[in-house]
Amino acid sequence: MYPAVTLQLPAWVAAEIGDSQRYFPTLEARMALAICLAERNVVEGAGGPFGAAVFEIESGLLVAPGVNIVAAARCSVAHAEAMAIMVAQQVCGAFDLSGKGLPPMELVTSAQPCIQCFGNVWWSGLQRLVIGARKEDVETLVGFDEGPLPENWPARLENRAPLPPVRVVRDVLREQACAPLRLYRERGGLVYNAGSL
Ligand SMILES: [Zn+2]
Repeated sequence: MYPAVTLQLPAWVAAEIGDSQRYFPTLEARMALAICLAERNVVEGAGGPFGAAVFEIESGLLVAPGVNIVAAARCSVAHAEAMAIMVAQQVCGAFDLSGKGLPPMELVTSAQPCIQCFGNVWWSGLQRLVIGARKEDVETLVGFDEGPLPENWPARLENRAPLPPVRVVRDVLREQACAPLRLYRERGGLVYNAGSL
């Protein structure tokens, strides 16, 4: 038998969010949560300086949070966006978040998705992608590499017939979204691009 693979968000994530259903009416409020998760992930020493969350677009209901646990989980897949998507799919009981009976959902992420998370968004059924910090912020402030994203990747998400579009909204609270990146650098956080260790 090969080992089973289990990815578990740190316990503090649930404590940070609380037990009750929470609604975040504006994009700024949703991004503020993603940034808060990214900052606390750095403070807790839990992983890279990235936070994300899946929301119902219309109601603003938080479906699932995510933080980066790559190093702790020994798993290069466990980026914040991937964690939020995977947890949301378990919450909804569906691999397709645009599946029957589900309301339209979005991913809000403190920093621009890397090549892997671009693919995760592509296949997830999410219908909107909301981004705080840009690739150049991530690369300049901490040195993480986002990989070779397709040129015009936002347009590729928005125009991908016959698949439904994924709308892209950028620069939401961009300056605030840089704070966890700076904090991570100040604390000497690990930059773990493949081949860098
Ligand atoms: Zn990623």
